[in-house]
Amino acid sequence: MGLEEKLPSGIMLTTVEALAGAVRSASFWPVTFGLACCSFEMMTMGTPRFDSARWGQEVFRNSPRQADLMIVAGRVSQKMAPIVRQVYDQMAEPKFVLSMGVCASSGGMFNNYAIVQGVDHIVPVDVYVPGCPPRPEMLIDGIFKLRKLKVEKMPIGSNAEAAEQDNERLALA
Ligand code: SF4
Repeated sequence: MGLEEKLPSGIMLTTVEALAGAVRSASFWPVTFGLACCSFEMMTMGTPRFDSARWGQEVFRNSPRQADLMIVAGRVSQKMAPIVRQVYDQMAEPKFVLSMGVCASSGGMFNNYAIVQGVDHIVPVDVYVPGCPPRPEMLIDGIFKLRKLKVEKMPIGSNAEAAEQDNERLALA
């Protein structure tokens, strides 16, 4: 009897997916993307006091092609919006977006024509971290929630599907 007949259906795939999810979630490479005051708290996450290297998420990349996590730290101006989208498009799949602080998530106190009222108008957001500014612990907590609730459970091959949905969403916008 072959191995496939002995094992319950799907067990091999599930194991590979679980392994891929664990590896992915333990090696985030965020793209450098500080837009305003929130970015100082984001940078602090990598300092020895918080030491995000403990969880494999300290390697900020200057090239979006080497990054899989965009932390939008600060308010997004209308002028900056196309650049945010361009950087997102250049990132490798699978990619994730974390909106850090009230300004990035909803415009915050900047309820005016110059500021995008939520970065989710431009890119799909996976997790929102509240606060003005959120402390580094809150950012770390947000990344952990993203890992646990989304990245670890992500089925293999879902990246292409997500990208397609994203393109459809853009086409409708
Ligand atoms: Fe600055 Fe607060 Fe807005 Fe962050 S949420 S960009 S700290 S005003």
